[in-house]
Amino acid sequence: MPPPPRGRFAPSPTGPMHLGNAFVALLSWLWAKQQKGHWLLRIEDLDGQRCKAEYVELLMEDLRFLGLSWDETPLLQSQRLNLYAQALQRLQATGLCFTCHCSRKDMALGAPHAGENNPSCTGQCSPTPGKPPSLRWRCVSPEHIRFEDAVLGPQHLCPKIYPKDFVLCRNNQYSYQLAVVVDDAAQGITQVLRGADLVDSTFRQIQLQQALGLHTPAYAHVPCLEDSHGKRLAKRGGTLSIASLRARGMSGPQLIGLLAQLAALGDGRPTTPQALLPCFNLKKLQSLRPRIAMEEVAIEEEKSLAIETEPSGQWP
Ligand code: GLU
Repeated sequence: MPPPPRGRFAPSPTGPMHLGNAFVALLSWLWAKQQKGHWLLRIEDLDGQRCKAEYVELLMEDLRFLGLSWDETPLLQSQRLNLYAQALQRLQATGLCFTCHCSRKDMALGAPHAGENNPSCTGQCSPTPGKPPSLRWRCVSPEHIRFEDAVLGPQHLCPKIYPKDFVLCRNNQYSYQLAVVVDDAAQGITQVLRGADLVDSTFRQIQLQQALGLHTPAYAHVPCLEDSHGKRLAKRGGTLSIASLRARGMSGPQLIGLLAQLAALGDGRPTTPQALLPCFNLKKLQSLRPRIAMEEVAIEEEKSLAIETEPSGQWP
């Protein structure tokens, strides 16, 4: 018998968890648990300026409130810096790392067509006094990297946006791409479900996995939850935090019912993650464009929240 699959949820504690984060958490839990697998929690707190311990507490409280319990002790990336340093050394030994002095602004100006997700070194940078260089990974033949996404189908990079390189370490901080590859391997993760905004990152992560001789997990990228204007929910918005919905009297089963409806798994009635297991199907997420409109309601008014869901539509 093969070992049970291992999925994970890897939030960055930069603010209170919102409905979009909970949507990903629920779906990755369902994917793992439907196959009798394990579901692990990893706190991606490498950005010491933006991540806060209070948000770690809060997100664990929110997950418990939603009935999403994790297996094993959660990992905190901030406590694993020596592992990232070791991986970086191994990557440096490949000869594909280089130091770069570009600021983010230089890079954005140097490669406007590449979009803000793929800024590359201009190749003309020179040291700035007092500023440590960043270490970047040179992408070699990214067009050969392909993967089968369990939601989106076969994926390959669009030639216009091939990243030429990406950051491994900047300002003495290991990058998300490096840490996630090290930790997915260390936690024995066999399947990664996350927002479709991270598809581009997968191509970078596969390059690092190959360079480090690590296994590539199965990937499923799910549509990101949007507001009624079609804008992706972000932590900075704040109003849709699970904590605020909790404070306004919404129960865990009500929230799960709402998220299930957005995932085309139910009619919005209160439910539990366990009850959704029999009907969970990743393929249902393929053509989904989940949108949620919430009216701001003052707590004193004690009105119920006005929630509209639009569970169907075309995902580009
Ligand atoms: N830490 C990332 C986030 O909160 C998720 C990374 C991942 O799932 O690979 O957006």
